[in-house]
Amino acid sequence: MDIIVEPDYYTPSIDKNGDYIDRPLNNDEIRYGVKCHCGSRKNMIYCLSNFTAHTKTKRHIQWINDMNNNKKNYYAENIKLMELVESQKVIIGRLDLEKRALQREVVAKSNTIDILSEIIKKYKTKYINDFDLMDCDIDENVSDDIDKIFENINI
Ligand SMILES: [Zn+2]
Repeated sequence: MDIIVEPDYYTPSIDKNGDYIDRPLNNDEIRYGVKCHCGSRKNMIYCLSNFTAHTKTKRHIQWINDMNNNKKNYYAENIKLMELVESQKVIIGRLDLEKRALQREVVAKSNTIDILSEIIKKYKTKYINDFDLMDCDIDENVSDDIDKIFENINI
């Protein structure tokens, strides 16, 4: 079985002033290639040599500058995303509880169907036997209806 390895996304470093800066990648980090979020060449997978050249492109440099100019916004955005994750966890937990309740309901209804099927089967046999004992014919329409019921519940 082949294992598919996806390239990582490049993450810039942060200097002593807290600004994003490009950093050199080592061979381990770029073994399977690296993608960049700057958007200059979407879905491009860079190797070590062409990534270094990529960091000198206008678009990439602008991306680093934009991140530095929006650091406070990123912080606020991060807080909003963390709140969103927490609310999503609550929703997922509630949906999971609802799913479990529905699964229990399905099992209970399935058991009820089994019990009712047995009862119907018992009455079908009794109904036919009673008519046999009375030596009379079952009404053709009633018999057809009973057969349809039994076909639908697979008895
Ligand atoms: Zn880039």
